[in-house]
Amino acid sequence: MTKFDIVIVGGGTAGLYSAYLLSSLGFSTCVIEQKPIEKLYKVTGDAIGKHHVEQHNIDVSNIVENYYRGALVYSPLENIALRVPGEGYALDISGWGRKLLKMATSRGAEILDSTTFIKPIVEGDSVRGVVVKRKDGCVSELKASVVIDASGATGVVRTRLPWTNIPITEPLRPEDASYAYREVVEVKDVPDNRDHIRIYLNQEVAPGGYWWYFPKKDNIVNVGLGIWGKHVKERGLNPADHYRKYILKRRELEGRRVINAGGGIVPTRRPLDTLVWNNIVAVGDAALTVNPIHGGGLGPALLSAKLASETIADAWERGDLSARGLWSYNLKYIEAYGKKQAKLDIFRLALQHMSNDEIQKGLEAGIVTENEVLILSSEGKELSVFDKVKKLLRLRKVPLSLARKLILAFTYMRRIERLYEEYPEDPDKLEEWSRRVRKLYSDYLRALAR
Ligand SMILES: Cc1cc2nc3c(=O)[nH]c(=O)nc-3n(C[C@H](O)[C@H](O)[C@H](O)COP(=O)(O)OP(=O)(O)OC[C@H]3O[C@@H](n4cnc5c(N)ncnc54)[C@H](O)[C@@H]3O)c2cc1C
Repeated sequence: MTKFDIVIVGGGTAGLYSAYLLSSLGFSTCVIEQKPIEKLYKVTGDAIGKHHVEQHNIDVSNIVENYYRGALVYSPLENIALRVPGEGYALDISGWGRKLLKMATSRGAEILDSTTFIKPIVEGDSVRGVVVKRKDGCVSELKASVVIDASGATGVVRTRLPWTNIPITEPLRPEDASYAYREVVEVKDVPDNRDHIRIYLNQEVAPGGYWWYFPKKDNIVNVGLGIWGKHVKERGLNPADHYRKYILKRRELEGRRVINAGGGIVPTRRPLDTLVWNNIVAVGDAALTVNPIHGGGLGPALLSAKLASETIADAWERGDLSARGLWSYNLKYIEAYGKKQAKLDIFRLALQHMSNDEIQKGLEAGIVTENEVLILSSEGKELSVFDKVKKLLRLRKVPLSLARKLILAFTYMRRIERLYEEYPEDPDKLEEWSRRVRKLYSDYLRALAR
């Protein structure tokens, strides 16, 4: 049996960045990662907003494969392309993993690779460590004062906790996720508009999601799609099949050479109702911190790791690593991003209920400007669009069904924002607050389905 201050399950962006921050503060940390260290590679679109890396002072200059000046967002008929501003990078994603690993180990973090988390060690109402299977097949116990679940979308630690009535254990439902598949390919010609990522809205190609085309260096592109998990579960849709059926036919991909192919699950909902309990904290995808509209999760993984690490250090100082002692992580995360995420979650549900015809007609009517797309998709601010929808509806320029869905979404976005402003100051009131959130969602979904 070995004892650390902090054990982190998962050596992705959130886990390694937490290990770096906490080791820098002098804590003994150990990262458990099921993959071998040389394969710390995450299947993603490889894109990250510049502000995320700047916010955390991470130098990416030697792992950038392309610079973006914005996104081109295409309507279903592809005759409208909104040029949405926003600076970002295409990352060499293996290099990103290696960089975070080096940052963590340089501060003294121990990495146990090819090691799988088996179950949490729970004593009474507190987490005391984890049971793992090492690469030699040995099963051993690692004790810790705090366990961080950074295991990605499945949240393997938190969903194995015995306290089913506490929302940190809530599993990710397919209805709240996108199932994605992507290829990194070499294409014949260097793409046009290389300095823009391309997002295609099309409910036939990518039902309840979108498909993307992100130029990387030279003539290499990252192309993929995400399908709403509800359609995967209920209609048996498969993103790799849709990729082959619709995207491979495209002229841009003629004669492509596949460099890497793979898929994964992206959480696309509001964060967990609580990211902490007694001696346990969730970060990154395990805490469901991804942007529900575009599925960008690398930035929020860094943010949640930072806020969690600061909170753990503070709680340690006060000698209280209980849910109450760690509670301020919830408050900080909700203020920094969680409240926006909840508004965006309401909006993504409205988008998922729209037909191609409604999206096309809305964009033709100029329902959103390029700047409004940016503000709406990153911050959930709906004010100017709300007024415009009402005006366009009066002028009969947009379908009634579309206006209804948007007005409903904007109304519920305001309601959820108010509810998040009333997030409980301590764990005792969590149950009541969670009940109100669930009620708001069920009212909204019922109204959307009408
Ligand atoms: C196809 C796809 C495209 C995406 N594109 C983008 C994009 O372009 N930009 C963006 O910002 N985000 C993108 N995302 C989302 C982004 O990849 C995630 O939000 C981000 O990687 C989350 O980091 P994380 O550290 O929380 O989780 P992960 O990176 O998933 O790391 C979790 C780690 O835990 C390990 N683990 C899991 N279970 C165990 C276990 N039992 N024992 C030990 N270790 C375990 C895993 O091996 C993994 O290394 C995309 C996601 C997908 C699937």
